[in-house]
Amino acid sequence: MSDNATPQRLSCHHCGVAYRRPELSPGEWATCIRCGSTLETYASFSAAAWLAVLIATVITFTLANAFPVATLFVQGAGQAASFIDAVVVTWQEGYPEVAVITFAAGFFLPACQLGLLIWIFGAMAFGRLPLFFESIVHWIDRLKPWCMIPVFLMGVLVAVVKLAGLASLKPGIGLFATAITAILITALSRLSSEKIRFMAHDLGLDVKQAEVPKPPSPTLITRTWALMLGAAILYIPANMLPIMSVSTMGSVSSHTILGGVIELWHMGSWDIALVVFIASVVVPLFKLIALGVLVFLTQQRAGIKLRERTHMYVIVEFIGQWSMLDVFVVILLSALGHFGSLLSIQPGGGAAAFGGVVILTMLAAMGFDPRLAWRLAGHRKHLSRGDLESTH
Ligand SMILES: [Zn+2]
Repeated sequence: MSDNATPQRLSCHHCGVAYRRPELSPGEWATCIRCGSTLETYASFSAAAWLAVLIATVITFTLANAFPVATLFVQGAGQAASFIDAVVVTWQEGYPEVAVITFAAGFFLPACQLGLLIWIFGAMAFGRLPLFFESIVHWIDRLKPWCMIPVFLMGVLVAVVKLAGLASLKPGIGLFATAITAILITALSRLSSEKIRFMAHDLGLDVKQAEVPKPPSPTLITRTWALMLGAAILYIPANMLPIMSVSTMGSVSSHTILGGVIELWHMGSWDIALVVFIASVVVPLFKLIALGVLVFLTQQRAGIKLRERTHMYVIVEFIGQWSMLDVFVVILLSALGHFGSLLSIQPGGGAAAFGGVVILTMLAAMGFDPRLAWRLAGHRKHLSRGDLESTH
């Protein structure tokens, strides 16, 4: 039977302190005393309200993929492209790896995530515990970072600005639907396995207590270094090779990532140039350097600046998917720029290498567990007097 009488446990994902779950009132949230991370926020939405958000998301997500995001006009002829068209064109141009990565991040994994959430909230909205609850909430956490619809939306906007100089472009229904989907998906990303478990518990459903996560193993460090090394090596071709080539009237020009940024700057779109530069150049480099520092200090069992290091890890984790921006831009441009000898845009090898960098750095960041930094520096799962003194 339900163990609603026994107090629930809660453990900080970032430093590993174990707590008794606090009782929150509307508008309140609980923070970890040791590292400052948010532990839990008051659930202002009921299961039925989340189900309504989910149904709205399924509708806009379907529209976003059924209709073209834009139509490009060159000398009277028009070429429309939806997200799926862009994936198909990329495959046909000989870049199956780029097609698979973008299809997974922009369609397949978000669709799986929506399906799992509907399974959970469809039952919980009617006061029932869904079948396979434990394994489904586990997968909801794992899929979340790979759902990149907001990044794709930004990619569409960059593509629109780039093409505005070449030809006339009309935004489609797919673009507006993508924008709404991106907002809804961002709202849904608040749903973690822990939050769903607490909601089920508060509904009086018979859910198990979340298992206290196992103490992270120091062997994770080797794996993180290996993934980072792979990403650093791929970062070179990602920047040296062209990510796309544009041919107009017989003349072909290739663009590297940095070349594309400079071009945008010359077109007068300094704001978009800045967005692409930050997403494609600064973010991957920052991620590699920051993660390198974090892993190194952890390995040295350093106790300095643990709170700041934990915050830095949260930033690295958060910005991870945004470096995928340029890959989405390239596949969209290839799908729209299909006018034979008049204008033709093709992806380049740099896009494939860049997709690899993004995936490897994301895996490296996920594999590194910030709780390990605290553990190796001598902190345990119960608060010590030193923890309380260092916070103020
Ligand atoms: Zn903490």
